[in-house]
Amino acid sequence: MSNMAETINSDSSEELDTWISQYCSMFGRDWFVEVDPEFIEDDFNLTGLNSSVPFFREALDTILDLEPETPIRQQNLPLVEHAAELLYGLIHARYILTKQGLQAMAEKYEQKQFGVCSRFYCEGMHLIPVGRYDQAGIETVRLYCPRCCDIYVPTSSRYLNIDGAFFGTSFAGVFVKMYPEIEEQCQQSRNRVYELKLYGFKISPLAPSGPRMAWLRSTPQTVEEIAEYDACEFELPHDEEVDVEIYDDDDDDDEEDEVQVSRAIKVTPKPESKRADDASDSMKSIVKE
Ligand SMILES: [Zn+2]
Repeated sequence: MSNMAETINSDSSEELDTWISQYCSMFGRDWFVEVDPEFIEDDFNLTGLNSSVPFFREALDTILDLEPETPIRQQNLPLVEHAAELLYGLIHARYILTKQGLQAMAEKYEQKQFGVCSRFYCEGMHLIPVGRYDQAGIETVRLYCPRCCDIYVPTSSRYLNIDGAFFGTSFAGVFVKMYPEIEEQCQQSRNRVYELKLYGFKISPLAPSGPRMAWLRSTPQTVEEIAEYDACEFELPHDEEVDVEIYDDDDDDDEEDEVQVSRAIKVTPKPESKRADDASDSMKSIVKE
């Protein structure tokens, strides 16, 4: 029995000793999943990486725990180790787009390992690591919230030196499409936006401090809204109220801008908002004086 236990122990310790498992268990590397060595051994998966990673062959041997064909010079050892980390990161970005990789990342996502969104209306939505660039060395990793559709800087400093390219630009999109329950969960409260109030009164969306960016968080719901949304990219909306608003306005240089604003937020300014505008105008004149 004791022999058996020993062999099991030695097996598991051997597994822990691979370069990949060691790297992923390092401090601040817990967002990485362990890439299957078979994935790395397939040359197709490494296409194009040899030109962007120095000491490519040596780095690859390091990752796969293979003896290098020609011994690495002592002074190059740190460079090879750095190249191995870079190569592993770039392979990692490709691996997490595969079925196996997505599953491994989903486990971490489920356990909130990437943290939760700090925006109140996102109700603790789990975050997804994402890079804004696929080239290494440009920017560190960001966290994407599928509910507010925005990205954030990791709050813990231990992740601030992880390259965004090690997760890549496509991962968050593929992940959300792969697990549609995430999008379903987000639909429930996606449109909720905090509105600033003054003594209980709403602020006009046209005022500088008004909720003018609320439309950013709104998504078309009905078929008509989707059609209108599609159309507004190429033509002016056939909305009488908006038309009236355009021609009622005084001769303004910003006429076009205003059309855009009223179209985007779909709000026809009411008399109160006009008054608010007047008020802000008079405020401006006071400030000028
Ligand atoms: Zn959020």
